[in-house]
Amino acid sequence: MSLFYTENAAYPDPNVAALDDRFKKYAIGNAGVERLYTGCRWAEGPVWFGDSRCLLWSDIPNDRILRWKEEDGQVSVFRSPSHFSNGNTRDRQGRLITCEHGSRRVTRTELDGRVTVLMNSYENKRLNAPNDVVVHPDGSIWFTDPGYGILMDYEGHQAEPELPTAVYRLDPETGEAVVLTEELERPNGLAFSPDFSLLYVVDTGVTHKPGHPRAVYVYEVDGRRIRNGREFCDMSPGIADGVRCDMDGNLWVGAGWGGDGFDGVHVYAPDGDRIGQILLPEPCANLCFGGLKRKRLFMTASRSLYALYVEAQGVPFS
Ligand code: MG
Repeated sequence: MSLFYTENAAYPDPNVAALDDRFKKYAIGNAGVERLYTGCRWAEGPVWFGDSRCLLWSDIPNDRILRWKEEDGQVSVFRSPSHFSNGNTRDRQGRLITCEHGSRRVTRTELDGRVTVLMNSYENKRLNAPNDVVVHPDGSIWFTDPGYGILMDYEGHQAEPELPTAVYRLDPETGEAVVLTEELERPNGLAFSPDFSLLYVVDTGVTHKPGHPRAVYVYEVDGRRIRNGREFCDMSPGIADGVRCDMDGNLWVGAGWGGDGFDGVHVYAPDGDRIGQILLPEPCANLCFGGLKRKRLFMTASRSLYALYVEAQGVPFS
């Protein structure tokens, strides 16, 4: 297995590895990992805009959101300052939903460009630093608040936390928010299964469960709550961050810091078996599916943006 990015190497790309026969139908023999852009400090929060054929993503320490255009491959600044934005997604009306470290809030960018603050506090205490976000078909906004953006000034503004780390569900119509769980140390990336019966949440914390650090957890979605959380996969020896599901229910996990041959995307079948891997030369913080058929995987990996055509199809609005 190749440990390095091999631009212009012969097909099949050795960086796309089937670890199980179940992954083989998703790997395209004459498609390889492409680096679309480099020059970020910490790339995060990719979101696909099919209507404008572009990808937006956050470059957190540089306090900006970048935009890559499909028609000509050009990259430009979409928003700066971005208040150290991190995770992005779209709601059912196609509006951009953004987690901001610097302003410690979740925002919605309206279709005319105005920015609406959806939530910046809970029970009159400031949120820590919202990290990643998904939208349920009922319009509710589910996001994580692990507090990385207030640990130091590099990705926000250093401050003491006022709230426990938590996962929230926000009804943007009423403003009502509920805590879904406070049991994870650093809840980070999150994704629904294709039928929205399950919620996957990454924990990037390390101290609360010695021997099982940095796992991905899965919960049953019970209306406005989640229950029966259990470990879905153990990411040792590395760390997971952002996740997305495909329409077959596989979980695609951005990961890094696990030593040689670990950086990139790890793909897990619904039963938790690791079935495939996409090796990158940099730790991968997050990913999303895009393109007309949602079969192009975009990966924000440290300094760079990568892409790979696959035969897996991403869940819409994720
Ligand atoms: Mg994250």
